[in-house]
Amino acid sequence: MRTHLCGELRASHQAETVTLCGWVEHLRDHGGVIFLDLRDYSGRIQVVSDPQRTPESYPLAQDLKAESVIQVVGQISLRPAGSENPRLPTGEVELYADQLILLNPARPLPFAVSGEHDSVREELRLHYRYLDLRGDQLQHNLRLRHRVVRAMRTFLEEQAGFLEVETPILTRSTPEGARDYLVPSRVNAGQWYALPQSPQLFKQLLMVAGCDRYYQIARCFRDEDLRADRQPEFTQLDMEMSFLDREAILNLNEALVCHIFRTVKGIDLPQPFPRLSYAEAMDRYGSDRPDTRFGLELVNVSDLMAGSGFRVFQDAVATGGLVKVLPIPGGNERISNVRIKPGGDLFRVVSEAGGKGLAYIRVRENGDLDTIGAIKDNLSPEQKAQLLARTQAQPGDLLLFGAGPAGLVNKCLDRLRLTLGHELGLIDPHALALLWVVDFPLFEWNPEAGRLEALHHPFTSPHPDDLGNLKEARALAYDLVWNGIEIGGGSLRNYRRDVQEQIFSLIGLASEEAQSQFGFLLEALEYGAPPHGGIAYGLDRLVMLLAGEGSIRDVMAFPKTQQARCLLTDAPAEVDPRQLKELQVRSTHSPSQQ
Ligand code: ASP
Repeated sequence: MRTHLCGELRASHQAETVTLCGWVEHLRDHGGVIFLDLRDYSGRIQVVSDPQRTPESYPLAQDLKAESVIQVVGQISLRPAGSENPRLPTGEVELYADQLILLNPARPLPFAVSGEHDSVREELRLHYRYLDLRGDQLQHNLRLRHRVVRAMRTFLEEQAGFLEVETPILTRSTPEGARDYLVPSRVNAGQWYALPQSPQLFKQLLMVAGCDRYYQIARCFRDEDLRADRQPEFTQLDMEMSFLDREAILNLNEALVCHIFRTVKGIDLPQPFPRLSYAEAMDRYGSDRPDTRFGLELVNVSDLMAGSGFRVFQDAVATGGLVKVLPIPGGNERISNVRIKPGGDLFRVVSEAGGKGLAYIRVRENGDLDTIGAIKDNLSPEQKAQLLARTQAQPGDLLLFGAGPAGLVNKCLDRLRLTLGHELGLIDPHALALLWVVDFPLFEWNPEAGRLEALHHPFTSPHPDDLGNLKEARALAYDLVWNGIEIGGGSLRNYRRDVQEQIFSLIGLASEEAQSQFGFLLEALEYGAPPHGGIAYGLDRLVMLLAGEGSIRDVMAFPKTQQARCLLTDAPAEVDPRQLKELQVRSTHSPSQQ
């Protein structure tokens, strides 16, 4: 139906007769001459119709509506001197429409396809997702996503010997820490499949099967409360490798990530990527996914404050907690007391993170420390001097304090650090800070459940140096962090049954339970399981960052809302009662309880 794409025509095509197909955009009538842009995925070209030169197409052109689909035949001509459009790659030429066929007229649109994407309500855009996708921004994102996946495949298959294997979608629950999506089995009434939260167990079994190196662009399902930027189904680049130690796995993955950046963005990332231990990341940034594009590092002053005489600090240290400082260079001038005190925005950042208050000290020009009474009055001159030395504070600087349980202090100061890093313009928007965070703890304490939980998942291998005390062991786990966002994570695995059983028992899984849930894995580990490890990248997040978008919804073709609804198809929806009957499922839901 066409000889060329709209976006490929140049001055060199002058006098060629072409046939183009596409969508009508920017219709305008200049004193009886109709101009329009004809658009397909490759770009736009100006089409012209007037009663003298193109009498056949003119009556039709006059009646066209935006986004109608047309076919145009005509000769490419150079635009008259002075009317070229330097912003369009095809801006030197235009097409006089000798023939025009209306392939399919479009109704008046709910929003302009080529308009400003963000000015339209998101619900409306999701309802007409195909129109939103037709616009430049999402077309670009979809194509970028495709190029990212292609770069992954090329590297993994052609340079690193990976095999792509599909794993089941109807399966058993895999513990990645979220709720499962369940699917009733009709032929096994009363029994349920779970949709995979990740292909974790299957990929490990593929290593036992001798596949050596596996990857999959894998769909994962997690029934989480969709706070933040989450989706009930999302995509991972999922990988697993045999006979590689941690070093080799990290190196291979750096090469993969560098290949993606080079292919997709033309950027050569510096190697090796920096590494931070979990302990150091928490200490310096209060976060296990630190944004290292800027400084504002935290300083631990617990030892100094243990004997400060200031109750809040003393008690924090005495009960095993921390006192840490976030020093803000030049903060006195830029941050007023009103913002730090109850009711202020910085106070609110802290209280939203669960903190009770925000103590501070200002270093005055003469070197005096200024604050709201209690802290300063209780510090000896030596303690003041040590505080200044430790925090390297200069006159004019503001010291913000966090005191209490370690987790809480880190969370509050991390949030403050990010807020102020943005506000004070410390973040270079073009900076690329990729780093590995390694040596995570194997377990974390879940106070509600009153037991240990695996920090990543229970298949992660403990650090070989820490086998003597598994409860406090570090894990052979690693996360890849980009500008403060985790884009991938993985670990070496337990490939011996005895170690895996020990881990299950430490997270409170009785051996019968472990057997009934994971018996197949434990058994496989006894039939020659090689040492292995792997990683998974959040493809949506990675593409979002590469596209410079703010939400993963902008890089998924058909995303769901925060309420896990698809506004286009209106899923989830009720089903025919007969279907439920066949499945032997009855709903306990009553609409009045909503
Ligand atoms: N299955 C893990 C996840 O989804 C990744 C891994 O350990 O390979 O986060």
